[in-house]
Amino acid sequence: MAEAAESGGNAPDAARRLYRTALLIRRVEEILLARYHEANEMRCPMHFCIGQEAAPAALAELLRPEDAVYTHYRSHGYYLAKGAPLAAMIAEFHGKASGANGGMGGSMELAHHDSLFYSGAIVGGPVGLALGHAFAQAYRKEPALTVSVVGDGAFDEGIGFEVLSFAALHRLPLLVLCENNGYAAHTGLADRGAPDLISTRARAFGVPVHVMDGNDPLQLLARLGPLCDGIRGGGGPVFCEVLTYRTCSHVGPESDDALGYRPPEEVAKWRLRDPLLMLESVLQDQGATAAELAALRDELDAGIQAAYAAAQAAPAPAPADLDRFVQPAGDAQVAIPFTEVVETAFRGGQAEARLEPY
Ligand SMILES: [Mg+2]
Repeated sequence: MAEAAESGGNAPDAARRLYRTALLIRRVEEILLARYHEANEMRCPMHFCIGQEAAPAALAELLRPEDAVYTHYRSHGYYLAKGAPLAAMIAEFHGKASGANGGMGGSMELAHHDSLFYSGAIVGGPVGLALGHAFAQAYRKEPALTVSVVGDGAFDEGIGFEVLSFAALHRLPLLVLCENNGYAAHTGLADRGAPDLISTRARAFGVPVHVMDGNDPLQLLARLGPLCDGIRGGGGPVFCEVLTYRTCSHVGPESDDALGYRPPEEVAKWRLRDPLLMLESVLQDQGATAAELAALRDELDAGIQAAYAAAQAAPAPAPADLDRFVQPAGDAQVAIPFTEVVETAFRGGQAEARLEPY
């Protein structure tokens, strides 16, 4: 998104660029959240990243076009950080042909191939795909890296550890960025395994391990920059655990606080460490006025609303495209064309039914 920085964090206007990216991500999420049920036009589960904007904002400063990013399904911020087009993301959520995946992926399978950005709904799944991409970059001797963004829940599974072992063995250009937000859906870290940091386990594989404040964008930029440079330079894989928190619910626009899985005091404490508040404080110290910040917000909002309007007006995908995105045309292994499956499932007007909020 931004001009690539060699090591990040030193430019005098770094705080302003970080704030712009973090605010864009925040406003996209807030507008989506507000309009999610408005016309019932976004029929895909959506995992908002409110509170977790710092890491994608920092990566936006560091990633280059030739770098690849694979993330979990809380992916909107990283999609934007990689410079993928906002309009295609909003259209994807609306299931439109102009969407990043032709309207076939939705929020949980968001990808934009031209930007080398990929995400996936299967917990831990994209970690293995990221490893493959990093292997290809090394095999082709490309001066690039792959970032694998995972949640703490993914490291309850084995694949993350297998990836670290293989990446270390082959010194692959892989940055594993583990967003530890304390919960896998609604289950706290201490209820799922030994109550220690994920990085304690990751250390066993011989990969350099770093633990960072995941809500401080400036600190993340300063610390991740040299690590990215080192990986691109052939230094091998790095594991970073960034400690952060989602102040929104696990999935969907409704609050899930009534489930009682986290104490209100905990949410309130993390709200005080909001990445946007931290950056606003820095900018105010640098002389930014409230009017300037409001003008930036209005500018970003106008772009988001325009993308939203374009998505609403865009055509739906052609039914003939359903097969194209599932299997190569003419593949003998496809016993039942996907179109038939969909038509069967939606028989009886179900396709017109309004989906229940979840
Ligand atoms: Mg988590």
